[in-house]
Amino acid sequence: MKLVCVDCSKEVPTHLFDYQCTCGGLFDIIHDTSDIDAEWLKRVFHERLSERMTPYASGVWRYKELIFPGLPEEYITTKYEGNTGLYASALIQSYVGSNSKVWLKAQSENPSGSFKDNGMTVAVSHGRSLGYQRFTCTSTGNTSSSLAMYAALADGESYVFVPNKNISLNKVMQTLAYGAKVISFEGTYDDGIRFYEQYSKELGLYICNSINPFRIEGQKSIVYEIAQYLNWNLPDWVVIPGGALSNVTALGKGLQDLKNLGFIEKVPRVALVQAEGVSPFHRMVAGGHTELTPEPNPYTRASALNIGNPPSWKKALRTLEETNGVTCSVTDQEILDAKAWVDKSGIGCEPASAATVAGLRKLIAEQVIDKDETAVCILTGNMLKDTDALQEYHLGESTQASYPNKIVLAQLAFEEIGAMLS
Ligand SMILES: *Cc1c(COP(=O)(O)O)cnc(C)c1O
Ligand SMILES: [Zn+2]
Repeated sequence: MKLVCVDCSKEVPTHLFDYQCTCGGLFDIIHDTSDIDAEWLKRVFHERLSERMTPYASGVWRYKELIFPGLPEEYITTKYEGNTGLYASALIQSYVGSNSKVWLKAQSENPSGSFKDNGMTVAVSHGRSLGYQRFTCTSTGNTSSSLAMYAALADGESYVFVPNKNISLNKVMQTLAYGAKVISFEGTYDDGIRFYEQYSKELGLYICNSINPFRIEGQKSIVYEIAQYLNWNLPDWVVIPGGALSNVTALGKGLQDLKNLGFIEKVPRVALVQAEGVSPFHRMVAGGHTELTPEPNPYTRASALNIGNPPSWKKALRTLEETNGVTCSVTDQEILDAKAWVDKSGIGCEPASAATVAGLRKLIAEQVIDKDETAVCILTGNMLKDTDALQEYHLGESTQASYPNKIVLAQLAFEEIGAMLS
């Protein structure tokens, strides 16, 4: 296992971990899997499904050999993350206009309520193995909640920098409740990153943002798990939302691993969906440009996607190239309406996650995705992560909500309730 710079290809051993290369490029983790007996490994992954009290009961550490083989078990900080449901939803299939199975992978069922747990367990475990007690991130929400949870579990400290606008109060409350020091500042996500990139060494802080390549390794487990649950037969398409683009990067990496080991024969195509107000990556791809132009005024109601200058765009581009992938953008209205359907399917998700279902619907309408092709949408966060969004949609005056479910005022009288039920 080694670190390789995405820009200049310089190689660094993992014990000399630094977040970025001296050239400014991001590091990628490369494993040497040439000695792995794939059939043996598949059996090991299968046997671990019956573990309960060991680190291998985790839906991330179950795949340790492909994520962080050299880490001594004593450093593993796990809350048995992953192990999330994979649901075939007839309601969503009909909403998106498909003739084939549509699966939803509910990363919303993770312990802190989002897929950030898949990566954070690995980052915090790695930080501990280097002797760190203090962890930091800057985040619009779910990264902080996840970090605060794992830092608490590891008996460490977390310092969370939060831009003072466009955040979900639920996520900040969760972060505070786990005991993190939350520092709200005037500025953007990028300002936060620049600050601790400069000072993390002096302050003894281990950085847990998405530029941390160990998080990406952990997030690969999402697609491993989908593949394992479907007996190593992936659907034709994997649909994923994009903000900082760490998850689409991990998805591409995970798919390459599965293909290289011969676990899957055909690599599914990836569809990356961004919110229209913050779609610099989609605009770059659609416009045929070779450099990303940051979004100067990012705004979307799907706050987890509100990242105007995604640091991992070069890695994300590789996923598109390797999977013959596509990108699209959807409006906030499309996102919130799709969310209403995911919620009433009984599965539920936060706004950012519903971008996948809205995107799948749009791509089927545009005939980019065929009605007869199967797809899995990755639901990234829990429905209770943004209760304001629920209130605005169902109880608010908003004329934008197409499928609100209003509270009914009634007398507790048999006739009145009876008429309602008839
Ligand atoms: C972080 C997050 C995203 C975006 O993932 P990236 O890796 O930043 O592209 C999407 N949805 C939710 C709920 C998130 O927390
Ligand atoms: Zn470099």
